[in-house]
Amino acid sequence: MFAYRNRYRYYKYTQPQQLPAPPPAAKVVVAVYDYEPSQPGDLELKKGEEYTITDNSRTHWWKALNREGVQGFIPSNFVQEKTEKGLIGEGWYCKDMSRQRAEALLKQEDREGCFLVRDSTASPGTLTVSVLCKTPQTTVRHYHIKQNPRDSKYFLSEKYTFPTIPELINYHQHNGGGLVTRLRLPPAALTGYAPATLGFSQDKWEISSTELTLMKPLGSGQFGVVRLGKFQGRMLVAVKTMREGSMCEDDFIEEAKTMTKLQHPNLVQLYGVCFKERPIQIVTEYMCNGNMSSYLRSKGRELAEDRSPLVDMCQQVCSGMEYLERSQFIHRDLAARNCLVGEHNIVKVSDFGLSRYVLDDEYTSSTGSKFPIKWASPEVLEFSRFSSKSDIWAFGILMWEVFTLGKTPYPNLNTTDVVRQVTHGKHLDRPQRCPHGVYRIMKQCWEKDPMRRPTFKDLQGQIEDIQEKDYCE
Ligand code: ADP
Repeated sequence: MFAYRNRYRYYKYTQPQQLPAPPPAAKVVVAVYDYEPSQPGDLELKKGEEYTITDNSRTHWWKALNREGVQGFIPSNFVQEKTEKGLIGEGWYCKDMSRQRAEALLKQEDREGCFLVRDSTASPGTLTVSVLCKTPQTTVRHYHIKQNPRDSKYFLSEKYTFPTIPELINYHQHNGGGLVTRLRLPPAALTGYAPATLGFSQDKWEISSTELTLMKPLGSGQFGVVRLGKFQGRMLVAVKTMREGSMCEDDFIEEAKTMTKLQHPNLVQLYGVCFKERPIQIVTEYMCNGNMSSYLRSKGRELAEDRSPLVDMCQQVCSGMEYLERSQFIHRDLAARNCLVGEHNIVKVSDFGLSRYVLDDEYTSSTGSKFPIKWASPEVLEFSRFSSKSDIWAFGILMWEVFTLGKTPYPNLNTTDVVRQVTHGKHLDRPQRCPHGVYRIMKQCWEKDPMRRPTFKDLQGQIEDIQEKDYCE
């Protein structure tokens, strides 16, 4: 079931070393974030500098060479391949960003002329400038950067053409040149925040309790208490201490090794596990705004003033789930309470696959009192048949939670009535603030026949396509 298990190869521990100049065909990348080595053998990255990749046979930790000829391991998601357009490292460029996310980020920043440049999702190969304009009312405008077929120059308005994109952006930062507003600064959220690295370093997933300092409690759940912690005294992490007897530990430890290899910007990164002593501690990425269900209840009103942050939150969960679907990994307990929120409304899916190791029948059996019945598809309720399609059903319910700002689904029904409704094909109603286009997506997730439900890949495209007109209905 798990695509990563055999693909992963282990490398001998390597100290940084002097090497001769790289062969000319080697891949050149640019650091998008600074990286400070956390293990011997890692190479420091400085934002904007170029590095030559000498070994990219592993997915997440590559061997790279810096300009001084020093070689070491780097996290692959901290660098991007140098493109012929030369945009990597520009503070306003963001390669993989959906239209919804761009709108949400710019609106959150709420500054006239705040802008970014991203790869267009509608026309691949084209770049889009997204810019916030505050008068007469706050809107985000999207402009494709076009290229003149005669001289290959770039332009937004045909009158002003430039040989490179940075020159074009620089011009529009000083002149309106036909745009609704002059481009000013990119959102702060685009600069400062480095992504989570995959595990702490190349081969490290087993963590010693001496490397962890435990701080304030963040919450408690099915397995025990979650606390804020520090790894090696400098990196903030969340540490989940597993209550003894709450999980099937040996099976989990075996699986955790492979789970640390799952990496996506919308998945809470599992860094490693501390299992040499008991109780077991699971160390993950820290998300400062806690679980999405409580976040929606407390911050929902603010978010709902404009619906694009809500669509954006669904879009982000969908991206993380699309990655799990591609990795043939079933979540089994997708719900707003199992997603976490970080800075700038970043949403990440958490607790994937964990329910398989729970030892409490009340939680694992579909007739148990803790079983998440309201998120379960008909085939899960009837035959305990979990699949990416049952995750899709749960995703529809999660979208409903988002658009009701954190309400519990089927508010007035007891579990027997919920089962009766679901097995008879009756669905949740459209939440008041939910656009019709969004509700149509939810209903597709609730097709009784799992084969008729869309995939997360299908949904990604559909959510991306939700147009402004949907907000006006
Ligand atoms: P459950 O087992 O019920 O899913 P968890 O044990 O995962 O709950 O977490 C309990 C609570 O602790 C969450 O609802 C959340 O508020 C907080 N929490 C868990 N993990 C993190 C994290 N990585 N960063 C910040 N808060 C967290």
